[in-house]
Amino acid sequence: MSALMQTYARLPVTFSHGEGVYLYDTDGRRYMDGISGIAVNGLGHAHPAVTAAIRTQADKLIHSSNLYRIAAQEALGSALTQVAGMDNCFFGNSGAEANEAAIKLARLYGHARGIRKPAIVVLEGAFHGRTLATLSATGNRKIQAGFEPLVAGFVRAPRNDIEALRQIAAKNPDVVAFLAEPIQGECGVQVLDQQYLEAARAICNKEDWLFMLDEVQTGNGRTGTYFAYQGLDLVPDVVTTAKGLGNGVPIGACLARGPAAQVFSTGHHGSTFGGNPLACAAGLAVVNSIAQDGLCANAAAMGQLIADTLRSACTGAKHVCAIRGRGLMLGIELHKDCGELVPRAMDAGFLINVAGGNTIRLLPPLVINEAEARELADAVAELIHNFD
Ligand SMILES: *Cc1c(COP(=O)(O)O)cnc(C)c1O
Repeated sequence: MSALMQTYARLPVTFSHGEGVYLYDTDGRRYMDGISGIAVNGLGHAHPAVTAAIRTQADKLIHSSNLYRIAAQEALGSALTQVAGMDNCFFGNSGAEANEAAIKLARLYGHARGIRKPAIVVLEGAFHGRTLATLSATGNRKIQAGFEPLVAGFVRAPRNDIEALRQIAAKNPDVVAFLAEPIQGECGVQVLDQQYLEAARAICNKEDWLFMLDEVQTGNGRTGTYFAYQGLDLVPDVVTTAKGLGNGVPIGACLARGPAAQVFSTGHHGSTFGGNPLACAAGLAVVNSIAQDGLCANAAAMGQLIADTLRSACTGAKHVCAIRGRGLMLGIELHKDCGELVPRAMDAGFLINVAGGNTIRLLPPLVINEAEARELADAVAELIHNFD
């Protein structure tokens, strides 16, 4: 019997090390990583700048606590808010914690305006995490079932439906914020329309709601710009991120701008580990490397190459319904459930993922080169052609 709680159905493989876009299992077999530990290892595995930053910091100081000033946290805070165009940020240890901070911030913003039961608009198909508040915000019954009572204060809206949002605004004076992922990852790479997001931003302006984006998965270069909203010419009031920020060292952030940046004051929120020197040193190496190595542009170009290759290889393939996404966040929707493609891909030496049951999700490292991108796309095309 395993000593671990059975919360995951794990594939029967253990990786011992990695380099760039490759992972090696304990038998020495090499796999191309098309999933990056779920959008975490954007710089690939064993990236020298991240390894060096962790080593140097670990030699000096791993943790001191937020009772004191933390140089690495201030440096990362400054680099991240600058690249995001935001005013300030709070560091936690995960995506769920980043969203908890955003949810608390929105509620406090509402209370300050005299709204006693502030509500946040969230979307069908959304994924915001597994803590009680974030699973309540999540638009997937499977994730909520058995954990009732859910946290109150969320209003569900269908995605890409501007009229539904207008109706919520007309009927619900308690709403204080809108929270959405620019591209919904967990439910199968569902892209929100630019028009919809622009309309949501306009409604937020008109109603005095905070426009909050969950960029836990889409952030840190994944979609071809540092944050997805930067490719959409939109500016949120609050943005959360995590996954790719530490390249594997746990860290999450909630960034805010304008009035939202003034909501939290001393004692409102906290975290023992959040923003510790080790995690922030890793985060700073990630933010700097993404800029120095031109990884946003590479993600955009390689994502285009993979999508184009798949589109031409799969024209007429009877299973393919749609190829969606932006940059290196791609979904290939098939007309039936395709979870069995994951072990088949592994047999062929490729790590892929299936989201929403019927959608192959690709999230390869941002450092992937042209030859590797072609190889990944060809392998996925072959899996689809052989799938019946
Ligand atoms: C993964 C994810 C989360 C949760 O992040 P954790 O680090 O697992 O808590 C939240 N939102 C989105 C969009 C995610 O993809």
